[in-house]
Order: sequence, then C-alpha cells, then structure tokens
Amino acid sequence: MNLHIETLAIAAFVVSLALTFAMTAMRIFLKGQPGLRRWTQALWLVAAATVLFGLRGKVPDVVPVLVGNAFLALAAALTWMGMREFCGLSQDLRPVFGVTAACLAVQAIFLWGHPSFEARSINVILTSTIWNLASAWTLYRHGPPDLTSSTRLVSFLFFTDAAIGMGLIVPNLIGARQSDPGLIQATQVTQYLAGLAIGTFEVLGLAVMLNQRLLAELRRVARVDGLTGILNRRGLDAEAPRLLQICQRQRLPCTLLMADLDHFKRFNDTHGHAGGDGALRHFAALVGSQLRASDLFGRYGGEEFCILMPGTQGDLARLAAERLRIHVGANPVPLNGALLPLTVSLGLAVYDGNGSADFAALLDQADQGLYRAKALGRNRVEVRVPPPSFRPDLLQEGAAGGLQVRGREG
Ligand code: GH3
Ligand code: MG
Ligand code: MG
Repeated sequence: MNLHIETLAIAAFVVSLALTFAMTAMRIFLKGQPGLRRWTQALWLVAAATVLFGLRGKVPDVVPVLVGNAFLALAAALTWMGMREFCGLSQDLRPVFGVTAACLAVQAIFLWGHPSFEARSINVILTSTIWNLASAWTLYRHGPPDLTSSTRLVSFLFFTDAAIGMGLIVPNLIGARQSDPGLIQATQVTQYLAGLAIGTFEVLGLAVMLNQRLLAELRRVARVDGLTGILNRRGLDAEAPRLLQICQRQRLPCTLLMADLDHFKRFNDTHGHAGGDGALRHFAALVGSQLRASDLFGRYGGEEFCILMPGTQGDLARLAAERLRIHVGANPVPLNGALLPLTVSLGLAVYDGNGSADFAALLDQADQGLYRAKALGRNRVEVRVPPPSFRPDLLQEGAAGGLQVRGREG
C-alpha cells in the first residue's frame, strides 16, 4: 500500500478534531458525568499532537518529538484517569507525571544522545501501551456492575489497542536494524492507520459507555419515589410481578401488605405539607429498617405503601405486619423539636405458593383488608373477610322469575 504520510496526517487531524468536538459537545450537555472531563481533555491533547506531528520538517524536531509526544503520553494517562473516575475510583496524579516524565527523558536521549526515530517510536508506543492496559484493566476490574456490557466492550478495545501497540514494536525494531526506508515508511503508515482506527473505536466506545450509564440512571430515577427514595408505583408494578413469578416457580409463599397512614389529611392540615412530607420520609425509613433485603417496599401513591415479603405466610405474616405497625406507633415523627404521633393501618393478603401468583388480585385482597382495618378503628392489621360460601338455601325465586342472592350484607 502506497499511502502518503502527509495525507494520513491530515486525515488523522480531521478525524481527531471531529471526535474532539463530539466529546466536547457531550461534556457541555452532560455536565458532571464522571470521566467525561478527562476524556475531553485527552482528545484536545491528541488533536494538538496531530497538528504538531503534521508540522514535522517545518518546525524544529524538538516540537513534534518532545511536545507532541508529551501530549500523546498525557492524553493516554488522562484517558486512564477518566476510566478511574467513571468507575468511582480515586484520582492519583503521581503515576501520570512519573510515566510522562520518564517517557520524555527517553525521547530526549533518542533525539540528542543517540538519535533514532524507531527508538523514539517504540518509547511512545510502550508508554501508551502501559496506559491502554491500565485503562482496560480498570474498566474490566472496576466497571460498575450494571454497565458490564459496555465497559467490557471498551475494555476489550483498549486491550486490542495495547496488543496492536506491542505488535508495532516488531517492525520498528527490524526497520531500525536494517535501515530500510521502505519498511520504515510502511511502519509509519501502519502506525497512523491503526491509531486512527482503534482511536475512533475507543472514543465511540466511551460514548456508548456514557450512554448506557445515562440510560441506567434514567431507569432508576423513573422507578424511585423522589420524596422517600423507595420504589414508586412504576417500580412496584415492574418489580412485584417479577418477585411473585419467582415465588410461584419455587412454590414459595409471599405476603403482601398494603399500608395507609391514619388520618394523614389531619396531620397535613395541622403540621403543614412540609411536615407531612417529613412524616412520609420518616415512615419509609422506619419500615425500610425493619425489612429483609429480599422484601420489596414501595410507595403506591400518596400515603399508601406496599410491602411484599417472599417466604412469609400464616402466623409469621401476621406477626411481621404487627411488628411494623407497633414499630411505627412507637416511633413518632420528630418535627421542630416535637414528637408527633403517627399510626398506620395495614391490609394483609397471602399467596400460599400454589397456583398462579397474581399481583393485581393480591393487591385487591390487601386493599379490602385495609378497608376493614380503617372501618374497625385504624392502627390495626386486617385481612379481607372472604365472601360467604355458596348457600343454595339463600337462593329464591325473584319476582320476575330470575334468581337473586340474599344476605350478603350483615
Ligand atoms: P385515613 O385514616 O382514612 O387514611 O385518612 P387520611 O386522612 O389518611 O386519608 P385521605 O385519603 O383523606 O387523605 C390522604 C392525605 O394524604 C391527603 C393528602 O394531602 C396527603 N398526601 C398525599 N400525598 C402526599 C404527599 O406527597 N405529601 C404530603 N404532605 N401529603 C400527602
Ligand atoms: Mg389513603
Ligand atoms: Mg390515610
């Protein structure tokens, strides 16, 4: 392949500038996303380095060889720092300055002491390979667990980049030994093309990673109640049927509690809406502290909450509900130095592990239990009263000849 180095330098500059603009735009629009600031800085350094390399021959060698390569080495290091930031790890500048200084010292030796283009090439390749391996390893080892698909992909790209770098050392060594201008030219062309290709993939990979994080964040926010920090109704509607499905498959019982704060309108009227908000947060924290990790707890709406307790039924379910009720009653809401009493009524429904577990049907049963708890005086746990069994003796001929059912009420 007979490609002009100058043409490649221009192509590299245009591509790196386009990627830099895209990353900068993301940085402006997605302020505060971990990693983005470092990656943008790295890309600006790469763009600047490509300009300096393009000026080779027109400016003193020290500019591209020392300044340009210092930019490249720093860019690779900043990329690694961005990875650490993305993974929520601490930032440490010492290795960044240490490796960059070592790289520059070696460059200076092979520029003035024993001039060798290939030795300088190998030095720069080794430095970026160290950082590429560090970036790949950081993502592989510490990538957030909910983002593994994109972090593994980008980790693979950086490992590939490191492997390409190691592969490029061989032709550089041979070229240096044989002083073969053809081989040197081919090596330079390969270096440019490989850098251009893998660099573009890496930057796009970072964008995919950021995208996946934003999407995960969006999903989380859509399912969490802003006031109490527990699941909201959308979250419950998504998670509860899934949990019940697992119970059904494993023939596990599951208890569903519907909780409603007593006389909450009065609480609001007396202590203000902000006081009511505080009480809702207090209640969510109280109940949350009493539940198991496997339980599901969410705000169904207003001052109504839903709790699913897999593996619990019978007396244990009743006991668990009573324990929650007593815990809430025993821990009044602290507001402006006062302690305000708050009670809760609960409706209880149980799936016994047989047949199909239907969230809507269980909710309906628990709701009927809650209705009874309210009617019977509040601050109590109730189950719905099952409808009377079929009684043929209650059937009588209606006036129009149809069948009517008597005696359901009472
Ligand atoms: P009961 O014992 O029968 O449940 O009576 P209640 O007053 O609790 O029930 P009602 O449904 O009449 O009132 C519910 C109140 O909950 C009314 C509403 O202002 C209040 N509420 C609902 N959502 C919020 C909220 O997000 N913040 C605050 N502060 N109040 C809320
Ligand atoms: Mg209510
Ligand atoms: Mg209420």
